[in-house]
Amino acid sequence: MAAVKKTLPRRQFDVVVVGAGGSGMRCSLQLAQAGLSVAVLSKVFPTRSHTVAAQGGVSASLGNMSEDNWYWHMYDTVKGSDWLGDQDAIEFMCREAPNAVYELEHFGMPFDRNADGTIYQRPFGGHTANFGEKPVQRACAAADRTGHAMLHTLYQRNVAARTQFFVEWMALDLLRNEAGDVLGVTALEMETGEIYVLEAKTTVLATGGAGRIWAASTNAFINTGDGLGMAARAGLPLQDLEFWQFHPTGVAGAGVLITEGVRGEGGILLNKDGERFMERYAPTLKDLAPRDFVSRSMDQEIKEGRGCGPNGDHILLKLDHIGAETIMKRLPSIREIAIKFGNVDPIKDPIPVIPTIHYQMGGIPTDINGQVMDWANGQNKPVHGLYAVGECAATSVHGANRLGTNSLLDLIVFGRAAGNHIVASHPERQHAHQAIPESSIEHSLDRVDKLETRASGENVYEVHNAMRDSMQAHCGVFRTLKLLNEGVTQMEQIADRCDNVYFKDKSKVWNTARIEALELANMKEVALATTKSAANRTESRGAHALDDHPERDDDNWLLHTMWFSENRRLEYKPVQMKPLTVESFPPKARTF
Ligand SMILES: Cc1cc2nc3c(=O)[nH]c(=O)nc-3n(C[C@H](O)[C@H](O)[C@H](O)COP(=O)(O)OP(=O)(O)OC[C@H]3O[C@@H](n4cnc5c(N)ncnc54)[C@H](O)[C@@H]3O)c2cc1C
Repeated sequence: MAAVKKTLPRRQFDVVVVGAGGSGMRCSLQLAQAGLSVAVLSKVFPTRSHTVAAQGGVSASLGNMSEDNWYWHMYDTVKGSDWLGDQDAIEFMCREAPNAVYELEHFGMPFDRNADGTIYQRPFGGHTANFGEKPVQRACAAADRTGHAMLHTLYQRNVAARTQFFVEWMALDLLRNEAGDVLGVTALEMETGEIYVLEAKTTVLATGGAGRIWAASTNAFINTGDGLGMAARAGLPLQDLEFWQFHPTGVAGAGVLITEGVRGEGGILLNKDGERFMERYAPTLKDLAPRDFVSRSMDQEIKEGRGCGPNGDHILLKLDHIGAETIMKRLPSIREIAIKFGNVDPIKDPIPVIPTIHYQMGGIPTDINGQVMDWANGQNKPVHGLYAVGECAATSVHGANRLGTNSLLDLIVFGRAAGNHIVASHPERQHAHQAIPESSIEHSLDRVDKLETRASGENVYEVHNAMRDSMQAHCGVFRTLKLLNEGVTQMEQIADRCDNVYFKDKSKVWNTARIEALELANMKEVALATTKSAANRTESRGAHALDDHPERDDDNWLLHTMWFSENRRLEYKPVQMKPLTVESFPPKARTF
């Protein structure tokens, strides 16, 4: 075996970026434009990354259509996060937002326009004027295909800047030396089944979310949390994974997303009595309250017998009253999705919807430059040579609940910031590539070898389904400690099964069975971290709502959860309450 390992093909770059979504490509653009050699890896063609599916918009306080400023945006984001977001990072993001959006505009992103030529902005959940007074128009949109427009714009800019794309390559493991520095990755060329060592002075994880650990999800099939798995196996913590966002409006039975932009354009939620029930739960913001709030209200309606349909198991999203013209102009893809997946034409009939898993607020901990932070002896410890950006990172601007349109913003603000920080610190990393310890490479190869040589064992699909069903049953919109603890026990058993998966077809070329087995190993880390972190937090905050502990507990829980794969251990880190330049927003009751 050792002889084979020595002959692994190698390539060298200044920077390897794992992931070609909005965050990875915003980062790589900054690097390539500065003249660094940059490789961007992606499991799919770059413009098929999940960012392409983003519909509603990207937030920035441009104030094109109603008065706005970044400080209100900051307040909304802190409150939306239920005070678990780090206020330094939130200030940075909201201040940078207008510049980041104008930059995209100048890159050629085809935003919708107002009559005066400025960027069109629609209202979105939890975004308000004057500290919660009324909804504000802050979501910059390209119809209901904002992510599509953003991703294609960034791809074209990267091609022009000579970023090197490795399309249909799957990164497997981080390579670290004794000091813990990250020196690159092992990666599988999916077409040939060959494994390469990609040496890098800096590695950036931009692998997106892991929504596929759930049965009903708005996420793409490739969203399997690979970057989180890689970080966890390399001994790094995963932060705040008990916080997962259920989007209020997935098409019932299908999971496909109906953007919050529908409610931004005037759509409303109705129960079986035809009542606009959000007026009762959130008198000021109504249907445009933040997502955790709306999802819980919908769940409550269904539980109390006011759900729609023969089984009383969904809610209706009505938008016919906004008119066919607005629907065709502002929400053309939504109409198509409703017809294809919900079997209704929203110009005439309401869409059956249900809260559906959508976004992971937690991830790989970083500072505001995107540099990954280990957590040891009660201190942040920078990991040399490793950055994380986008949905896989916990920077942490979204805290316990993300506001709609703040993710696309997070991608471009922190993708750019990480790029700038890498360029600025590159001179000191100009040295030749450091030697990668053989043991680090072997560790990764052994993992793959075990899969290749196993002659019997568990079926990948069956284990994945067991994981998805367990997550769905134990980690829902409303949770109880009993359910969560049962979930932990189940997930530990499922994790053992993940370690024993087997596939029959061992061929190398385009073997999707191998890829799915490798993805399952990553999902295992995310699912374990999620259940364990959730079962240990005895309060309700943001998207983590416990029926048996319904109150937020700021005295004991203004803390980030840090989960370590080794010994499946938990630690806690204080939330950064101090912004960069302004006064802190102290916690207060969260009503809308
Ligand atoms: C349906 C939908 C609609 C949304 N709408 C909005 C919206 O309107 N506004 C908003 O702000 N947010 C929205 N979001 C959220 C937002 O789109 C995502 O959080 C964001 O796009 C994630 O971007 P990313 O760059 O982190 O990763 P992604 O775009 O998910 O890209 C991940 C990349 O990593 C690559 N990758 C993963 N693993 C590996 C590996 N092992 N090796 C190599 N490459 C790998 C993938 O191939 C891909 O290129 C939406 C999300 C969904 C699912």
